[in-house]
Amino acid sequence: MMFKTHAMFGLFLTLLLINKISLPHPIIFAILVTAFSSIPDLDHPKSKLGRKLPFISIPINLIFKHRGFFHSIFPPLILLIILYYFNLSFLGLAILGGYLVHLIGDSITREGISFLYPFTKFTLKGPIHTGGPLELVLFMIITILDIFLILKFVNIL
Ligand SMILES: [Zn+2]
Repeated sequence: MMFKTHAMFGLFLTLLLINKISLPHPIIFAILVTAFSSIPDLDHPKSKLGRKLPFISIPINLIFKHRGFFHSIFPPLILLIILYYFNLSFLGLAILGGYLVHLIGDSITREGISFLYPFTKFTLKGPIHTGGPLELVLFMIITILDIFLILKFVNIL
């Protein structure tokens, strides 16, 4: 799944849940989740984020491979524990949120996702071809829904 679709999907899920979970700074949280929604693709040097940070993405790719451990639920959980220790659990939760929306997004692509890698290689897959016409349609629908939810959030609708 592409950078822009992950970002719009991250924004969508956060806006959808923002009123249901009580967070101290919901708007900052929504922005952070959206910003962090492409972190897992740091394991791919040719991804948008990977191209910007090759000194991080190339070693991660060599060690973990694309869609391996770095595309599992464990990196954000480990990070959350570390950030909690430093009293930064808000940041840790935003990273976890961004990671979750990324993994959910990738789980509907043909390549799929192994959420619990390396403990199980069970892979969740879907019909979406990354960068294909179906993803483009999905991106447009989610973007329209995002605009609707933002207008609703600021009480224009
Ligand atoms: Zn990915």
